Amino acid sequence: MSPTSVRKHRMPVNDSGFYGDGRFGGAFVAPELKANLDELADAYYEAMADMNFMNEYRQLLRDYVGRPTPLYKAERMSCHYGTNIYLKREDLNHTGAHKINNAIAMGLLARRMGKRRVIAETGAGQHGVATATVCALLGLECTVFMGETDIRRQRHNVERMLMLGAGVKSVKAGTGTLTDAVNEALADWCRNRSEAFYLMGSAVGPHPYPEMVAEFQSVISEEIKAQVPVLTGKPLPDYVIACVGGGSNAAGAFFNFIDEPSVRLVAVEAAGLGVETCKHAATMTLGSEAVLHGSRTLVIKDNDGGVAEPYSISAGLDYPGVGPLQAWLAASGRTSVLSATDCEAIAAAYRLTRLEGIIPAMESSHALAALDKLQFNPDDVVVVNLSGRGDKDIDTFLSHKCTE
Ligand SMILES: *Cc1c(COP(=O)(O)O)cnc(C)c1O
Repeated sequence: MSPTSVRKHRMPVNDSGFYGDGRFGGAFVAPELKANLDELADAYYEAMADMNFMNEYRQLLRDYVGRPTPLYKAERMSCHYGTNIYLKREDLNHTGAHKINNAIAMGLLARRMGKRRVIAETGAGQHGVATATVCALLGLECTVFMGETDIRRQRHNVERMLMLGAGVKSVKAGTGTLTDAVNEALADWCRNRSEAFYLMGSAVGPHPYPEMVAEFQSVISEEIKAQVPVLTGKPLPDYVIACVGGGSNAAGAFFNFIDEPSVRLVAVEAAGLGVETCKHAATMTLGSEAVLHGSRTLVIKDNDGGVAEPYSISAGLDYPGVGPLQAWLAASGRTSVLSATDCEAIAAAYRLTRLEGIIPAMESSHALAALDKLQFNPDDVVVVNLSGRGDKDIDTFLSHKCTE
């Protein structure tokens, strides 16, 4: 007895989760998982139409996360680049990044569906921390799957998750990184479908996840759209720039501008040691179509046609695929795709830190690096989505010598 929920899509996606012309998206999963996803989709569309659900979400965004986040005019950066640079301060959110926006909404949805247990995967640990935080807030049991290698690399975030009461499951398969953690988490969800809720951390995976995550991050561009006219006197920004790992902060920053053709949307991915090397995570620049984690999207492949091991100095961008919305926006030409190397990102991080006193996350530093690759007019309004803060990355910044 499936409720006839109203499926209102606010983005270019159909009921089966395919984007644009249908090349990207969908739900390529085993039949048992499909049942979970159908149940989830019904609950999601119902919740979106429920004022009480949305009010509780909005209230927590305001009082718990600290929204709206400021749109800050970076004066010294503006001077440096000869234009008007505005930073969307997602770094000021509780837990230090945009991921909490989505985790809060999904936690509320889990509770609404009567699920006691939340499963998540994490690479850098940022999504694990956001999920563990929300589970503590809502009194839900939390299991976070994390690759063995990542656990070693991200000790501090593992400790935060443990303090928050989450169980951290070490995944030894494969290379012990994010891709392996996703596989284990999905398998666990399959085994425990009636009591568990899978809390996806980025706009990836099978439908309805990419649509849900983009929707729950869309508050970012909703706020930018309201803030730009007040701060600049212009109706719209000229540029919105965001980094892309799976594509959730970019989805949030672009969402309400997709239908505004005058706004140039710039997606920045990780070029690692360089797109000409095999050490990168430049999925949209170099990827080809394949199914990854239940979704048809752009994936970087190795010489045998398998999924390549991606590389970026930034753990949050170190993913071999990208969400289907970003794949479609790039393929259709709506976004311009740039990439930044490890060194370019680190240099951009030092620039922001020394000019504005803001230490950006390594991921966000890739978006900042795009400022050096674009040509601006003096009266342009350029918005950079500062997806997170760099406290977690200080050791990496200090131990790398590619500053100017
Ligand atoms: C996880 C993370 C990202 C990358 O994920 P998206 O889904 O592409 O946004 C970017 N910035 C920060 C600070 C992150 O923690």
